[in-house]
Amino acid sequence: RLFPALRRPAAARCEAGSKVLLKEMDYPELEEKGFRPGQAMMLWKCLYGNNVWAHSHDELAGLNKDFRKMITDHANLKALTVKDILAASDGTRKILFSLEDGPVIETVIIPCDRSRTTICVSSQVGCAMNCQFCFTGRMGLRKHLSTAEIVEQAVFARRLFSDEFGSITNVVFMGMGEPLHNIDNVLKAAAIMVDEQGLHFSPRKVTVSTSGLVPQLKRFLHESKCALAVSLNATTDEVRNWIMPINRNMDDAKRLIELVQGIPCKINLISFNPHSGSQFKPTPDEKIIEFRNVLAQAGLVAFVRLSRGDDQMAACGQLGEPGEYQLPL
Ligand code: SF4
Repeated sequence: RLFPALRRPAAARCEAGSKVLLKEMDYPELEEKGFRPGQAMMLWKCLYGNNVWAHSHDELAGLNKDFRKMITDHANLKALTVKDILAASDGTRKILFSLEDGPVIETVIIPCDRSRTTICVSSQVGCAMNCQFCFTGRMGLRKHLSTAEIVEQAVFARRLFSDEFGSITNVVFMGMGEPLHNIDNVLKAAAIMVDEQGLHFSPRKVTVSTSGLVPQLKRFLHESKCALAVSLNATTDEVRNWIMPINRNMDDAKRLIELVQGIPCKINLISFNPHSGSQFKPTPDEKIIEFRNVLAQAGLVAFVRLSRGDDQMAACGQLGEPGEYQLPL
């Protein structure tokens, strides 16, 4: 019963080579594929829980012999291959992953303290949104990442860095790509990340960030328990269409106060991170503080977020293609 189930046409999109890619499935799908419930749960826990994060068939401890052989013969546990890991001077790491079909994506691990480390995951190769301050946007959209390719970034982060950094607690979809442009795979990946029997991230600590795709944003709010961040960059359509000149910052602060009136939210202020070929420069620290103070005086909760990993092109807006990028002089 198990083998034909794995070969059903519905599973075809999950295949890597001739094998089924297990991380394409959420738990109900894994059970549906013909795995007996007890065995399906043990497999799920080997993939995502119990500090196993299995990547090889040898790591599937506790499964019965026949079931393990069937998995070995017909399923792949791994969706990505590590190509390189770069360490920034502040402890931030950037992992470069090769995809099965060739492209490279980037994931950033941002340690804070032993009880909190954040993973910044990518959702696309390149991006169609073409934000003027973003290096990824210059690539154009090459490909949507699959559910497995998104989830695997979190699995690898835990496998590689849990010992060194302690608890890896937060996920932000702020890497390469506009997550809501790839909403089906992002919704499913986020659901797998918060599954209590698996990776078990708190939904409040998994944040999907969007540049503002409104229909998908509404769908996300209906279908996901995870948090949503809207990347504003400016507060008028005119300025959003072309990023604002620096001397108009305080006008934007005032409009931002009006814009979020009555919305329970916090504001994260993130400075532009430089990359070659961009005409933008980072906002001076004192301007950022001034902007934050205007918001705070109006009663808003506003934080200035430090850039992490910018000396290894690992900060916001700096992810791109290895070999093509360099820091501006
Ligand atoms: Fe895409 Fe985000 Fe970069 Fe805009 S900032 S181009 S949405 S990756």
